Amino acid sequence: MKIPSALSRLNEALRCLPGVGSKSAARMSLHLLQTDRAGARALAEALAHAADHIVHCATCRNFTDNEICEICRDVRRDTTLICVVETPSDLLSIEATGLYTGLYHVLLGHLSPLDGVGPHQLGLDLLEDRVKSGQVGEVIFGDQFNGGRRGYGPLHSATDEGNEYHCFVSGSRCANGWRTRLR
Ligand SMILES: [Zn+2]
Repeated sequence: MKIPSALSRLNEALRCLPGVGSKSAARMSLHLLQTDRAGARALAEALAHAADHIVHCATCRNFTDNEICEICRDVRRDTTLICVVETPSDLLSIEATGLYTGLYHVLLGHLSPLDGVGPHQLGLDLLEDRVKSGQVGEVIFGDQFNGGRRGYGPLHSATDEGNEYHCFVSGSRCANGWRTRLR
């Protein structure tokens, strides 16, 4: 049976979600159309709005709907600390603990030269500028950099590509990652 082209288009669009294959996409689209058209419209509008308005913070690269994110604008945060995380999801996990009061740098990926992801794509130049501003006293590498396939190694390699990043290489191991004291 040939399915309507609008349904086929919806199924195809849903497959951009991680872990969603053709069967899951078909199940979701049929559910939305069969039982929740209002939900389907709300979802479409929310997706379009987010895609049009969410950008990366000019300071830390976190998601935001302003030029500078809420965390970077919060005067109560400790501006001498920067925690380096791989994704906005990692940042949210740390924020959920309520224990960290410093700022962040979000890499938005991991070093992968074959895919064209180098230090610049990870925003390490941006991080370096923040460190050089003189206000930052310590850079903390989140616990995802503690060993593992995508561990500290990639960032270490990134920092090795040019002397300008060497200030991020030395560090001492702590309970939840690497801490690099800058002064
Ligand atoms: Zn920010």
